[in-house]
Amino acid sequence: MNELLNYSIKEHIKNLKEKKYTVKEYIEACLRKAEETKHFNIFLKLNPEKILQMADKSQQNYNSNQIGKLEGIPISIKDNICEDGEQTTCASKILQNFIAPYDATVIQKLKKEGAILFGRTNLDEFAMGSSTENSAFGVTKNPIDPERVPGGSSGGSAASVAAKIVPGSIGSDTGGSIRQPASFCGVYGLKPTYGSVSRYGLVAFASSLDQIGPFARNIDDIALLYSVIQGYDKNDSTSHPKIKDIVINTEPQAYTKEEKKSLKIGIYFPSENEEGFDSSVIKTCLELKERLIKEGYNVIPVKSNLWKYSIAIYYILATAEASSNLARYDGIRYGYRSPNAKNLIEVYIRSRTEGFGPEVKRRILLGTYVLSSGYYEAFYHKAQKARKMIREEYRNFFKEMDFILAPTSPTVPFKIGERVNDPISMYKSDLLTISVNLAGIPALSVPIAKDEQGLPIGMQIKGWHFEENKIFRLAKTFEEDGWVNSI
Ligand code: GLN
Repeated sequence: MNELLNYSIKEHIKNLKEKKYTVKEYIEACLRKAEETKHFNIFLKLNPEKILQMADKSQQNYNSNQIGKLEGIPISIKDNICEDGEQTTCASKILQNFIAPYDATVIQKLKKEGAILFGRTNLDEFAMGSSTENSAFGVTKNPIDPERVPGGSSGGSAASVAAKIVPGSIGSDTGGSIRQPASFCGVYGLKPTYGSVSRYGLVAFASSLDQIGPFARNIDDIALLYSVIQGYDKNDSTSHPKIKDIVINTEPQAYTKEEKKSLKIGIYFPSENEEGFDSSVIKTCLELKERLIKEGYNVIPVKSNLWKYSIAIYYILATAEASSNLARYDGIRYGYRSPNAKNLIEVYIRSRTEGFGPEVKRRILLGTYVLSSGYYEAFYHKAQKARKMIREEYRNFFKEMDFILAPTSPTVPFKIGERVNDPISMYKSDLLTISVNLAGIPALSVPIAKDEQGLPIGMQIKGWHFEENKIFRLAKTFEEDGWVNSI
């Protein structure tokens, strides 16, 4: 392993400034690593020529001392975020030949700070899934154990960071798609507050839940990437004006011994024999609880009567929104058009039948059903009300506590193929992540432990809206106290 690939983003910036190596030397090492790990199927597209051109440009910026916050740093991008002139497929046949005509706001921001856009990462088709097995272009393998899934839907992003091809990646999270793959691959992943990162240029799945966020291997790099991509954007009508007043601290300070004693930490941990949880996840929670108490934090067990409904609520609301958002793929305006269609109706029917995969079809059917007349009140409207209750419950929790900790996933990464024929068991892997999206709050998955086989276990730190800085401080504290087990 080339030792260059072990450095954090901050270390690279320092080293590049001090001319310990050139941007080109670093980027070539990343490209070699991508080549060596090709069998993991992490990238849907990687264009070394373009990447090396960007490296040259970054080197010039170092030479003239005019560098951005991410100058010369390779960042991979989930293939549902538009990059001008690049294929943006959402891992779907229906967009296989679609070239994005503009940059998403996050891409503009990354470019402005000198980042090198390093390839388009694999995902579940239209971000619908928890394992990357729903990609139309093959599953991504987990770099820690290639027989296992990397999680999803941002599986390629998490794997690119875990395989140490790049130090950071950008993904999207609608119901857990950043945190769960981060947990499965042993890296950090942040789902930011809804409205803090612009969704302009993110291909919509469920617009009221979708949020873009970063992956990295340490908390400082997460804070740095988040500071670059967040911010108000007039191009996104759900961008929140409050974000204008927030300054992200890219050097989060660990809490002092005194501060720890004043922090109230809610824990939502499984009981000792909780069904559906791996014993290693349960054991990790028990150990963490003991450590927290010993360290002097105020630990408050959290009981929610509502979170058990979150999967049901999510699969009504997210599919309803998806059925509307995906109506635009009609064989006329975007992407794939069936060559077999003989009239207009056939263009619609055949293009969609041939272009979408089975999971996407399942969701469109479900979403159309819950929105149809007669069922709207019973399902969609009711789920909206229940969503509001979840949000209010969180509001009340955060009046009493600073953070809530909960495992990211009930299990360690499962084997490829293990759950493909059982959508319900697949949906259950989002049990602990979905309520966060329903409430719009931020949550960070921290790689907290490994089981006996070396498979990673992630822990979420949830906070109230716009409290990312606080979450980063707690993660930094865990890091400094040696409680983190990152790749
Ligand atoms: N796994 C969830 C789903 O299948 C969440 C996906 C996501 O966050 N994009 O919908």
